[in-house]
Amino acid sequence: MAAIGDTFYAWAADADVLKKGECGGAITALQQYALKSGMVDAVLAIRKGADLYDAVPTLITDPAEIAQTAGSLHCGTLLLSKVVKDYLDANKTARLGVTVKGCDTMGLIELARRDAVDMDRLLLLGVNCGGSVSPILARKMIREKFEVDPDQVHKEEIDKGQFIIEYEGGHKGIKIDDLEDEGYGRRSNCRRCLYKVPRQADLACGNWGVIGEKAGNATFVEVCSEKGANLLDAAVAAGAVKTGAVPAKALEIRGKVEGAMLGLGNKWRKKNFEALASDLWGTIARETGRCIKCYSCIENCPVCFPVAEELKGNSRMITSGEVPPNPMFHLRRFAHISDSCINCGQCEELCPMDIPLALFSHAIRTEGDSAFESKLGKAPYTN
Ligand code: FAD
Ligand code: SF4
Ligand code: SF4
Ligand code: SF4
Repeated sequence: MAAIGDTFYAWAADADVLKKGECGGAITALQQYALKSGMVDAVLAIRKGADLYDAVPTLITDPAEIAQTAGSLHCGTLLLSKVVKDYLDANKTARLGVTVKGCDTMGLIELARRDAVDMDRLLLLGVNCGGSVSPILARKMIREKFEVDPDQVHKEEIDKGQFIIEYEGGHKGIKIDDLEDEGYGRRSNCRRCLYKVPRQADLACGNWGVIGEKAGNATFVEVCSEKGANLLDAAVAAGAVKTGAVPAKALEIRGKVEGAMLGLGNKWRKKNFEALASDLWGTIARETGRCIKCYSCIENCPVCFPVAEELKGNSRMITSGEVPPNPMFHLRRFAHISDSCINCGQCEELCPMDIPLALFSHAIRTEGDSAFESKLGKAPYTN
C-alpha cells in the first residue's frame, strides 16, 4: 500500500500509452483509470494543437480520448486554475482530474483560499517543472540560435540543462544557461520559480531521478496525499499502471537536481530583483506608460479576484476609458495582489505591450514576504 512520502517508478501498462507518454505514460494511464473507475467525472489536461507551440487545455469525459493528451509541451505556458474554477462552477457536483504544474497548483490553492474552488472535488496529478518557454520566443530562438525552421521541429525537450529539439534531418541541444544569457530560454518568472516539485498536488511526477534502464520509460512518482496513494494503489491493482522500486542512488540524484534548481531560482531572483531595486517605482511608471488598458493582466491573473470588476470601472482615481491609465490603476492592482502573487507569469505573458508585470508583482510579493515571514509563517508552498 502506498503512503504519503513514498516514491516509486511508474509507467503505463498499455503499450500505446507507454509509447505516447513523455516518460512512460503513467500520468496518462492514471488519468484514464480515474475516469474509467468513476473516481472523477472528467479530466482536464493539455494536448498539442496546430503544432508544438500550441498547447490546448482539453476537457475529456471519454477514457478512450485520454491518450491524445500524453506528452509534455514545454511551450505550454498556460495556467489551468481559472479553467478549473469555470468547470466546477458550471458542474456543481462533478469531480475533476487535472494535470498541474506547480503554478497551476498554487493558483488553485489561492482560489480555494477565496472559497472559489473546492479542492475536495479535484484530483491533482502534478508534474515537476523546470520551466516553460514562451511559444513566440521559442520560435525565434529555434530560428536564430538553432538555425532550424521552427515548423520542421517535431519534438522538443528540456533535459540535463539543455533545450533539445528534434527536427527533420537531425537533433540539436543548446545549454539553457547560454540561451538565457542571451535573452532566450525559459520565461523570466520560470527562472525565478522555486516550486519545482508540486507537493501540494496528490502525486508529483517527473523525470528527475529516473536512472538506468528505466530512464525515459518511467516517471518518478512521489505520493503527496491519501487521495494520490489511493489512486496509485487502485490503478496498480487494476493493472492500468506498473510500478517499481526507486534505487537509493536515484533518490539522491533527484534531491540534488531539485536543490540545484532551487539554487538557480534564487540566483535569478537576486539578479532580477537587485536590478529593479534602485528604481522600482520609476521603472514601474515608465513601463506601465505603454499600457493600453486591455485588462488581460487582470482577467488572466488567478489571484486578481474578485477585485477585477472594480478596476474596470470608474473610481476616485481611475477613469474608465483613459489610456494610458492613471498609475493608480496598476498600483491598486499591485496592492491587491501583493500578498498572494504566485509568480505564474500570466499577466506578463499575455500583456500585448510586453510590460514585465510578473517581475513587478513578484518583487513586491517577495519583499513583503521577507518583511512579514517571521511573524506570519510561510505560505503553504514556496512560490
Ligand atoms: P504523460 O503520461 O506523457 O502525461 C503528461 C501530462 O502532462 C499530460 O496529462 C499532459 O496533458 C500534461 N501536460 C503537457 N504539457 C503540459 C503543460 N505545459 N502544462 C501542464 N500540463 C501539461 N520533470 C522533471 O523531473 N523535471 C523537469 O524539469 C520537468 N519539467 C517539465 C516542464 C513542463 C512544462 C512539463 C509539462 C513537464 C515537466 N516535467 C519535468 C515532467 C515530465 O516531463 C513528465 O511530464 C513526467 O515525468 C510524467 O511523465 P509521464 O510519461 O507519466 O507523462
Ligand atoms: Fe513551471 Fe514554475 Fe514556470 Fe509554472 S512558474 S511553468 S511551475 S517553472
Ligand atoms: Fe495594460 Fe498590459 Fe494589463 Fe493590458 S495586459 S491592461 S496593456 S498592463
Ligand atoms: Fe500571476 Fe501576474 Fe497574477 Fe502574479 S500578478 S499571480 S504573476 S498573473
